[in-house]
Amino acid sequence: MRKEFRCPYCNKLVGITKEDGKSIVKVLRRAPRNKSNNETIFENKCPKCNNLVYLQFRFLQNTGT
Ligand SMILES: [Zn+2]
Repeated sequence: MRKEFRCPYCNKLVGITKEDGKSIVKVLRRAPRNKSNNETIFENKCPKCNNLVYLQFRFLQNTGT
């Protein structure tokens, strides 16, 4: 399943990723203060309004078995 990310300021499409059920992706206006080990942050500049947006990938921990 494809998921689109839109700039929180101007709604321009800034990225597309695949959702595989193993991670949660959020678009943030500000970088999170506390980054945990299972998170990755990508900085992305919106091509339309030039604001920095942050794509936060949080990997779900495997709690099965
Ligand atoms: Zn924008």
